[in-house]
Amino acid sequence: MLVCFFYSMVKSKKNVLEKPVRKLLLFASSAVAMNATAVIMVSQKSALIVYGLYNCCIDAMVISLLLYVRRYTSIEPKNKKEMLAVCISSLADCVFMMINPFFRIVYNCELVQDRFSNGFYQVTDRKFLYLYHLIVVYTVVVISLITLIKKAASSPTVYKIKYAGPTVVICGILVAHVAFLNFNFKFDYSLLFYALIAFAVFYFSLFYIPRGLMEKLLFFTIANMKDGIICIDIDGKCVHSNKNANIYCDAYNNPQAVEQQAKIMFDENVPKGSTEASWQSVRRVDGQMHYYTLEYKSIFDNHRHYLGSFFIIHDHTEETNKFTAEKYRATHDMLTGVYNKEYFCETAQNMILSNPDTSYYIICSDVKNFKLVNDIFGVEAGDNLLKKIAVLIENITPENCVYGRLSSDRFAACISKELFSEESILKHTRKIDSLPENSSFKVHIHVGVYEVTDPNIRVSVMCDRANLAIKTIKDSYQNIVAYYDSHLRDDFISEQKVISEFENAIETGQFRAYIQPQITADGRINGGEVLVRWIHPDGVIPPCKFIEIFEQTGLISRLDIYMWELACIQLDKWNREGRTDYYLSVNISQKDFYLLDVYEVITSLVDKYQINPESLHLEITETAVMNNPAVQLKLIQRLRDFGFIIEIDDFGSGYSSLNTLKDLTADVLKIDMGFLKDTENKEERSKTILGMIVSLAKSLDMEVITEGVETKEQVNFLTEFGCDIFQGYFFAKPMPVGEFEEKYLSTYVEV
Ligand code: C2E
Ligand code: CA
Ligand code: CA
Repeated sequence: MLVCFFYSMVKSKKNVLEKPVRKLLLFASSAVAMNATAVIMVSQKSALIVYGLYNCCIDAMVISLLLYVRRYTSIEPKNKKEMLAVCISSLADCVFMMINPFFRIVYNCELVQDRFSNGFYQVTDRKFLYLYHLIVVYTVVVISLITLIKKAASSPTVYKIKYAGPTVVICGILVAHVAFLNFNFKFDYSLLFYALIAFAVFYFSLFYIPRGLMEKLLFFTIANMKDGIICIDIDGKCVHSNKNANIYCDAYNNPQAVEQQAKIMFDENVPKGSTEASWQSVRRVDGQMHYYTLEYKSIFDNHRHYLGSFFIIHDHTEETNKFTAEKYRATHDMLTGVYNKEYFCETAQNMILSNPDTSYYIICSDVKNFKLVNDIFGVEAGDNLLKKIAVLIENITPENCVYGRLSSDRFAACISKELFSEESILKHTRKIDSLPENSSFKVHIHVGVYEVTDPNIRVSVMCDRANLAIKTIKDSYQNIVAYYDSHLRDDFISEQKVISEFENAIETGQFRAYIQPQITADGRINGGEVLVRWIHPDGVIPPCKFIEIFEQTGLISRLDIYMWELACIQLDKWNREGRTDYYLSVNISQKDFYLLDVYEVITSLVDKYQINPESLHLEITETAVMNNPAVQLKLIQRLRDFGFIIEIDDFGSGYSSLNTLKDLTADVLKIDMGFLKDTENKEERSKTILGMIVSLAKSLDMEVITEGVETKEQVNFLTEFGCDIFQGYFFAKPMPVGEFEEKYLSTYVEV
């Protein structure tokens, strides 16, 4: 017992049972030692004291046994009261035992002789308190036994023996002890069993592993592994293969088939002389593709003797599918399933760079007014249209070329020049002519084409250039395909420059008013048209370079208000100089009507400078009126009622018909200079029409101004037709205000 005790002390097994085992062994050996000592005591008192100590050791031993059993079975009591009761009862028992030598309240002892006539003290005359001692000890032992039996009953068969062993030994001690008490043996044989329990506990706790447990655990571990495992012996026979390996080998409960498969795998994938190898394989299992990583390894013992080999079959289909799905998400547009911008650009760039001898086009598509589709018919209709366009882009992209979606309604493709076909683009784009949800909404798709001249330019930049080409036809319903050329880029850059310089230009007064005089048929000049000039530090910029850009960006309204105010300031100045009969015409862009309350702005300017509204002529283009006649004609009427002279500008340049004239209740009709050009080319017919317009206007009580008069001849026939006023280079070009005043204000009055 002591050997076991000391062994367990030195042994550092990091076993949780070590401490309780040690305690149990200590008290068991102490008990045996005490018993042996008591026997050899020479006086009754000292024998009683040592027997008392012996019984205390028994108390401590059974408590240690209980603690050990609990740790061994992992069954801890729900409350601590039970242990407390045991400890208090045992403590009381120990107290009785220790005072017994003096009062003999538990037992007495007598000198007896063995068969060799050796005298020794034996416990006799057991009293009630000895019964108490037995009850305490037996109760604790029975609790321990019950705990062990409970654990053995609830454990799988393979573990039962682990608990059954100590149970049997404890039962043995109990029987021996009961026998000792009943048959009044001279020697307490249960002491032998203490030694036995010491060994049993020591062995079961620190050494014993249930037989077959390892095999069983290994078997179930392998059976439950996600990986397939095939073990092959030295003769190439399959010793074991788990379920997943059988599935892989398509060999259910057929070791031969597994063997064959293992041989094939070995021959095909393990290089000659190698002891390990790894490879990939793809198989269809239950109609689904499965992806595997396989591993082969030879097994050797400690002396490098070959014992066999094993295959591990790892099915990584789930990871592969997840990875594939993630890659798909990262490279595709979720709505249409085509490549997304990043992946399209990357793939197209690689294609262009790796085929330097092939010429490529980058084409981009754009849907006219796509935003309207979403706004009016809803996002679903917009999505459906985009899906159709994705199919269209797929159809116009030949094989081995790439395509993708750049952003909302923009798709792109990279097509080699020899496979590119404009007819194919036209044919397919025309197929999508209306929304599936609403056939009355006409869909127009424009396509911009950029020819790749420098493969090192980023594809996203190439796409921007193809889109720039679309800008040139974006208002057209007839043109579908537009090609990029370098002028477009220059235009784009200068457009951006114009926009970025606007703010500073207006703040530093770079926009100036020029006046182009208007001459009456009898040669008088009472005013002219105010035309803007941008006096840029780099030189004068004519309106054709910026008006349209400002109209597109909405900056035009700020410029126009500025120009109207300049005109008012000028008229105010002339008023104060006494030239009240002079007038100025200002232009109102058709965009102003959407961006401003034109009536409110103009009337407040006139009020601010106390100008007679009749001296401010307002030029409204025919197109602006005809775009929204109901509203515009009312506005014109209100402005006229306020006192302004309304001129219909550029008449004849838009989609005018003589018919529209009768609806126009304006003061002046300004005939577009294009009409005069036509008279040069088509002579009589145009002249006749011009004559008719003039006379029609006259009959409607409108004055007629003809713009762009460049020759004497034009003046002559226009005078003949009855035109009232002329404006054109024949008389004068637009000029700075100062020059106009100098040339035409004959009686200059200094204020
Ligand atoms: P518009 O209102 O039709 O102005 C007449 C244009 O014809 C002026 O060009 C003028 O210089 C030009 N012109 C006059 N006589 C002749 C001629 O005999 N032959 C030729 N070939 N051209 C002649 P400009 O000043 O370059 O203005 C162009 C257009 O820019 C204007 O056409 C007008 O639409 C717009 N614009 C000019 N100033 C303003 C402005 O302050 N506000 C707005 N909204 N538009 C303006
Ligand atoms: Ca004008
Ligand atoms: Ca005009």
